[in-house]
Amino acid sequence: MDTITIKTKILEKGETCDHCLGRQVTHRYKGIKNEHIGAAIRHSNTEKEIKEKIEQEKPQIKLTKNCFLCKGLFTETDKMYSKLLEEVNQWEFQNFLVGSKIPNEVVEQQEKLWTEIPPEDAEPVRREINRELGKKLSQHLKMEPEFEEPEIVFILNFEQKKVETQVRSLYIYGKYRKLKRGIPQTKWPCTHCKGEGCEECEQTGKQYKHTVEDLVAENLMEATQTKEHKFHGAGREDKDALMLGEGRPFVVEMVTPKRRNPDLEEVQEKINKQSKGMIEVQNLRESNSEEVVKLKSEKRDKTYEVWAETRDKVTEKDLKKVEKQLEEQEVEQRTPTRVSHRRADRVRKRKVHTIKLQKENENQFKAKIRAESGTYIKELISGDYGRTRPSVAEILKTQVTPKKLNVLKIHEPNND
Ligand SMILES: [Zn+2]
Ligand SMILES: [Zn+2]
Repeated sequence: MDTITIKTKILEKGETCDHCLGRQVTHRYKGIKNEHIGAAIRHSNTEKEIKEKIEQEKPQIKLTKNCFLCKGLFTETDKMYSKLLEEVNQWEFQNFLVGSKIPNEVVEQQEKLWTEIPPEDAEPVRREINRELGKKLSQHLKMEPEFEEPEIVFILNFEQKKVETQVRSLYIYGKYRKLKRGIPQTKWPCTHCKGEGCEECEQTGKQYKHTVEDLVAENLMEATQTKEHKFHGAGREDKDALMLGEGRPFVVEMVTPKRRNPDLEEVQEKINKQSKGMIEVQNLRESNSEEVVKLKSEKRDKTYEVWAETRDKVTEKDLKKVEKQLEEQEVEQRTPTRVSHRRADRVRKRKVHTIKLQKENENQFKAKIRAESGTYIKELISGDYGRTRPSVAEILKTQVTPKKLNVLKIHEPNND
């Protein structure tokens, strides 16, 4: 179908703007803006005339609120662009993408027309808007748009006449050491009010005043102007266990951060200062969602030190016997009584790699144990009423109570 016939068919249906007229045949005139094509064909009766008019530098462009195709959408693009600039100023980013939401009736009109004229040479309203306003913003910011993984997407919502922003999370990796007992790793809502705030928790909504998560995340959130975060740890230790050595890897995910380039050295210093010896973080650096998946799925051996008390007196010989029997030994652990209220009751097998026991006095010893990821260490010591077998208690044939536990090392996944 030739261009003049297409034009006549469209104009018979009603009034249009030059954007919408030109859009229908845009691929026939490569490198020319839709509204210029529209203006040229509106005032032409032959293909030759179109060619001549298209060369003109500054044609008169027709915009109208009465366009039956876009319903006047192209009269609103300047206003929308101002709103876009306002929004853009609130965010920090290194690449972006512009998208749009177009009213349904515009899309419907479009599709109806395309049943009557060939759609191959036309382009949808949305594509024109995204490209043109994207290009304008790109020039303004002197920044290239990113189509694959943009840090930020600005959606021009022409239905509600506002700009919506979607921001990619920012991930920060680090390692923490926990130097005081009684601090859980993650947020723990008050058990009375479930986090609402009550007298019991002095309106904080927290069961514990401090958590590793809060101590780490508060400063990161402030530095990146983020309201919401997620804490991903490479496993966790009991709230009463210390986390020593080089610390435990974690990634904090900042959801919709306004700033993406925090000075991590400064943040690290601040966290460590404000934590007052409760925790210490190091190695803060930028990370990504793939690393979170890795962190969560990797199996890492851990090395622990535990102090334990025995009901009956034990000798060096007894302790040697334990070492011998547990070294490179697989133990069967039924879900411990202390966690059975929140975990399914099952038996799992874990391997103890090395175990060294050191007598402190007749009823006390210290153990250093390297075990497979997921080993219940307290139960390995106490036996948990026969639910863990074999155990230190079983071999010593007496009651053994773990008193204090520290994590000394989270080993590399490939076992260093
Ligand atoms: Zn239009
Ligand atoms: Zn409460």
